[in-house]
Amino acid sequence: MEVLAPAGNLPSLKAAVDHGADAVYFGFRNATNARNFEGLNFSESEAAAGIAYAHSKGVRANVVLNTYPQGQDPSIWYQTVDMAARLKADAIILANIALLDYCHQRYPQLPIHLSVQASASNAEAINFYQRHFHCVRVILPRVLTVQEIRQLRAQTTVELEVFAFGGLCVMAEGRCFLSSYTTGVSPNIEGVCSPAREVRFENHGDRLQTRLGGVLIAEYAQGEEAAYPTICKGRFRANEQVYHVMEEPGSLNVLEMLDEVIEAGVSSLKIEGRQRTKSYVATVTQVLREAVDAYYADPRSFRPKTKWLRTLNATSEGTTHTLGTYQENWQ
Ligand code: SF4
Repeated sequence: MEVLAPAGNLPSLKAAVDHGADAVYFGFRNATNARNFEGLNFSESEAAAGIAYAHSKGVRANVVLNTYPQGQDPSIWYQTVDMAARLKADAIILANIALLDYCHQRYPQLPIHLSVQASASNAEAINFYQRHFHCVRVILPRVLTVQEIRQLRAQTTVELEVFAFGGLCVMAEGRCFLSSYTTGVSPNIEGVCSPAREVRFENHGDRLQTRLGGVLIAEYAQGEEAAYPTICKGRFRANEQVYHVMEEPGSLNVLEMLDEVIEAGVSSLKIEGRQRTKSYVATVTQVLREAVDAYYADPRSFRPKTKWLRTLNATSEGTTHTLGTYQENWQ
């Protein structure tokens, strides 16, 4: 079982490696990266330094290239595949069919992981990508129960990677247009579904309102913790009630079901959050490392420790956590 940690920059990558990650993932500072935040991500030389550091400690380094090329000038996407190959990344994470084909034809030695942005959540889709592009791993969308993951394991030989901790994105990954309606820009092009320039925190009397592109996302009473406004986690009025209609703004945390997820045949536990701080990366990586090691030391008596849950809750969005769709029964 691999613990796979995010790296938004070189210090975070080193923190992940030093706190027990088996592998790290990062993207470049350009439009090919769905976490294209200002001040984050890697230049080619930083990536070379990061890969060298990871390799010196026996840790794998995966490059993320998970947006869809734009028609006007797709050259940067192809150049970034070339760069990942040149840097000898351990794997490249791709979503787009043209890039998958390009990489498979040109760099057959570079292992391809199918990005969650490709939304492959059934065996037919996953096996298609394996057959045509030799994808060795699929990153599963956060829309499957553990039972469904177990079924998938029996229907494909492709490695399965799942999200273990971090922010939730509940829609069909890579095809969410919710924020496009409020901001007028696509998460694919902007690299983020709630761009900071569209976000407002406004006081109205004793209430705090959060807005995205002018649209009211949530209203908070005094003293209530306000979440960063994301459309799917807004509080909206429906059926005469105001509530989180689509999703709570808590973080996914798989710890309580870690044994079930491992036994479902998953190969990699991914921590979300390339946009988060170095201390977040260090803390979450260390907790998952300890939890995975504790499971393998004695699988039958595995229980999540209170201190792990407390530590992770302190880093969570809204300081709460959820098992997300791993245990949903509405599917
Ligand atoms: S709005 Fe929500 S569901 Fe859509 S991309 Fe953003 S986080 Fe994901």
